[in-house]
Amino acid sequence: MKRSTEVVVIGGGVTGCGILFDLAQRGFKCALLERGGLSNGTSGRFHGLLHSGARYAVRDADTARECIQENMVLKKIMPHAVEDTGGLVVVLPDDGSPAVPDYPTIFFEACQRAGIPVEEISTAEALRREPLLNSALTRCFAVPDASVETWEACQVLLDAAAEYGAETFLYHQVIDLLLDRGQVTGVVAKNVITGEKIAIESDLVVNAAGPWSGRVARLAGCEVTVQASKGTLVAMNYRMVNRVINRCAPPGDGDILVPVGSVAVVGTTSVGVPDPDNYAIEDWEIRKMLDNGAKLVPSFKNFRPLRAWAGVRPLYQEKEAGSDLRQVTRNHALLDHGSRDGVDNFITITGGKWTTYRLMAEQAVDLVCRKLGVKRPCRTAETILSPPGARKFHWLGSRLEKAERADPTEQFICECELVTRSQIETSLARYHHPLINDLRRDLRVGMGPCQGGFCTYRVAGMMQKQQQLSARQVNKVLVDFLQERWKGMLPVMWGQNLRQMQLDQGIYLGLLGLDKLPLALSGGEEKRIGELETEGYFETG
Ligand SMILES: Cc1cc2nc3c(=O)[nH]c(=O)nc-3n(C[C@H](O)[C@H](O)[C@H](O)COP(=O)(O)OP(=O)(O)OC[C@H]3O[C@@H](n4cnc5c(N)ncnc54)[C@H](O)[C@@H]3O)c2cc1C
Repeated sequence: MKRSTEVVVIGGGVTGCGILFDLAQRGFKCALLERGGLSNGTSGRFHGLLHSGARYAVRDADTARECIQENMVLKKIMPHAVEDTGGLVVVLPDDGSPAVPDYPTIFFEACQRAGIPVEEISTAEALRREPLLNSALTRCFAVPDASVETWEACQVLLDAAAEYGAETFLYHQVIDLLLDRGQVTGVVAKNVITGEKIAIESDLVVNAAGPWSGRVARLAGCEVTVQASKGTLVAMNYRMVNRVINRCAPPGDGDILVPVGSVAVVGTTSVGVPDPDNYAIEDWEIRKMLDNGAKLVPSFKNFRPLRAWAGVRPLYQEKEAGSDLRQVTRNHALLDHGSRDGVDNFITITGGKWTTYRLMAEQAVDLVCRKLGVKRPCRTAETILSPPGARKFHWLGSRLEKAERADPTEQFICECELVTRSQIETSLARYHHPLINDLRRDLRVGMGPCQGGFCTYRVAGMMQKQQQLSARQVNKVLVDFLQERWKGMLPVMWGQNLRQMQLDQGIYLGLLGLDKLPLALSGGEEKRIGELETEGYFETG
């Protein structure tokens, strides 16, 4: 299949989605290609914190200033995707360091210099706001941190871009760049579900492939060093705090706790990995998250860890970093491969933070305008993206109330996250080749305490009926989803989680014989699980 457009964007993380919307709003014909589902990379595996910049104020003043500026913009333009929790930065008795004896005062002054609204509150007030916090805290600062829902944000950007005519191709991996006399003239992509190939000719290609942007740049013969830094996170089954809690100390492992919907997420580590597609969650990382979580909230370990996952930060550097990746700037890089490498019509944007995606998109599209010789101002900081009356940040009580009011006979398909049959039917209708993961992103199906134990087979049955999929296709979709859920449970498999897992195994292996189901693979192949050759099979979907 062949097509043409003006600008192609590679990568459907928050940076790519932001760029697509900005391009479309400035009048460019454009298309985005993403190899997985929406926010399949780092943007779907991050901590969920809309930074106030306080974390970077002491060591990286530029990043701190960008964060607070964008924090305020995003709260204004997409309030439905942001829960304005506020944040507390707490000093614990073992936070002092002989090297930096008065870090809290240095921190407070650095926040003020960066323009971050910061207020010292009494420890009694801190405990009144957050009763489960460690009562041994010695000082506390309030900052405007918030919690953000990435899928809601990315989806609203794609929807807004589509209104200007932009196209999005999910599950399309760019496998080659079209080159003509040293200049990029488009991309070749493969639909990873059907195997079909598509070539899109364009005037310019923007590489926003996050930790994979080095690989994409190499398709055009350009060398971009992106150090992949893995960070592990653990979701606890209880929202034990209502504000983002940070340690008042130089950034370290497991020093932030973020309330996200009905859970709390503790993170993270920072470990260099050679391949952003291939890394393991280590036991020491889980232990450290739980131990450090317990320093912030002493009753932490009484709650149940639901799952663990890891994301990979794209840290750009001109040279290889040393071993301490926390020292590498969280700032972003914008590269014009025409002037840098002699390969024109091709730019890369990488690094940065989720919080600064809009600014990164603005700078990337400014460069697109300069390269294509047009002057079109950016309007994204003033454009309200939240649809009128859009649902507020995920809250279970509101779902229950809505469902009861709308139709008391409505069936709940996912009882943990209170997702109804009609919500699933509406969401399924939006996709050509839906995967259960798409419903997870849309509705949080399978994200609650049972991690898909009860809802996965129900959803698979609904998909078969509504999408008229073959039984083999449905089996494949079901197996892929469960395998992803189980992958996240494995690192925290003890106590109640182990019991839950055994129940899930009983349902899927004992009762439904999942290991004996025939599966439809791409390219028309059909196999049973026991016949699959590669162990990595489940990871590829
Ligand atoms: C553990 C962790 C916690 C973090 N926490 C925070 C936080 O709390 N707040 C914050 O502001 N920032 C946080 N960050 C940083 C933030 O998540 C990232 O900076 C941001 O999400 C990067 O977005 P991106 O769109 O540039 O990259 P990505 O989200 O990785 O998007 C790149 C996309 O490109 C796609 N892709 C790759 N190759 C191809 C190809 N060949 N063809 C098509 N598509 C391709 C990938 O599938 C991917 O979806 C965190 C990072 C990590 C790792």
